[in-house]
Amino acid sequence: MPGFEVFGEEEKQQALEVFDTGVLFRYEFGEQRKGVYKVREFEQAFAKYTGAAHAQAVTSGTAALKVALTALGVGIGDEVITQGFTFVATWEAILDVGAVPVFTEVDQTLNMDPTDLEKKITSKTRAIIPVHMLGAPARIVEIKAIADKYGVPVLEDTAQAPGARLNGQHLGTFGHFGTFSFDSVKTITTGEGGMVISNDEELWRNCSEYHDHGHDHAVNPGGRGGEERRFIGFNYRMMELQGAIGLAQLAKLESIVASQQKNKAILKEAASKIAGVSFRVILDEQGDSATFLSFMLPDKEQAAKVNQVLRDNKAGAINFGENSWHFYPSWEHLLGSKTLSKNGWPFDSHCKRRVIYDPEALPDSVELMNRTLVYQVPVNLSDTQRETMLAALAKAAAL
Ligand SMILES: *Cc1c(COP(=O)(O)O)cnc(C)c1O
Repeated sequence: MPGFEVFGEEEKQQALEVFDTGVLFRYEFGEQRKGVYKVREFEQAFAKYTGAAHAQAVTSGTAALKVALTALGVGIGDEVITQGFTFVATWEAILDVGAVPVFTEVDQTLNMDPTDLEKKITSKTRAIIPVHMLGAPARIVEIKAIADKYGVPVLEDTAQAPGARLNGQHLGTFGHFGTFSFDSVKTITTGEGGMVISNDEELWRNCSEYHDHGHDHAVNPGGRGGEERRFIGFNYRMMELQGAIGLAQLAKLESIVASQQKNKAILKEAASKIAGVSFRVILDEQGDSATFLSFMLPDKEQAAKVNQVLRDNKAGAINFGENSWHFYPSWEHLLGSKTLSKNGWPFDSHCKRRVIYDPEALPDSVELMNRTLVYQVPVNLSDTQRETMLAALAKAAAL
């Protein structure tokens, strides 16, 4: 999965071009920067790669979610629906704009269950955030159709799936927005960083100005120039060094995905020999970014038994049922309304409405996640690592 595996000379060369100008900032410094605009160039290359009309670089994937929600006009008391299997960042961003996160079950895609989504739409729903977890698509076409029926915008959290496609179309380009992360463990990395993509020029302009303290970007789209201000903003600006590294990493994305697909096929073949095993539904195998291999056992006990063998043989898998960062029942700080704010914000101040999260609200997801085992697929699978993993999987198959 991680771009840090292929970090090298290309990133260094890109960064040196920024050092040569001494301009670390994306805006202004016209003369001194000698035509070097790395963040702008990264945005343009990212938009071209994904096929989106516009891209806005920001400081993180979490910031990308917040900027996109803000651009959509989501605010206090609004409801935003996402899935119960995601990284905490998705709902942190929802809470941060003052909205109420509502969680759906996940299905065999390990992503948003469209049937449950439709049940959870109310008159307060202002956005829907399906997450393309573990490198593969949510049922985005169905989700978009449901959202359209109720007139609710869709924001795709694509943090874990750059380079992934569904029927040839890049994930992140189906909804009003797609957001990406370039943190330390993501498929391409800029250290910290994020991106928002959109086909809607007005929404993109909202992102562009909001992330830059509300500076007027109208006269010089994607850059400063005007003196007007349309609304209050914030600072989520990406640095030139990050843009430079992003350009080098983006150029490697296709080869990262190709290596992962090759390595995933080797691991999948070995895992398919385990008695009773089934695999996560991948809607488009060809478009899979192949960052992870997810396989299911018939029940929680068998999954635990298989994973014990894998662990004993130095190739333990992740069970997200036991992971505290990605799955609803283990978010004790959310369930317990824990906040530094003395007035209980954001749990207590939603227009006098207190939001209560029931730990048992997603029984289908619990059943599924408890019997799912997950391997991260390395970009560079060394001979020793491959032998170890294949030997462990063979032991599990002999159970
Ligand atoms: C990593 C991640 C984010 C947040 O990205 P950061 O850059 O770390 O802020 C958001 N959503 C998902 C699904 C992620 O995996």
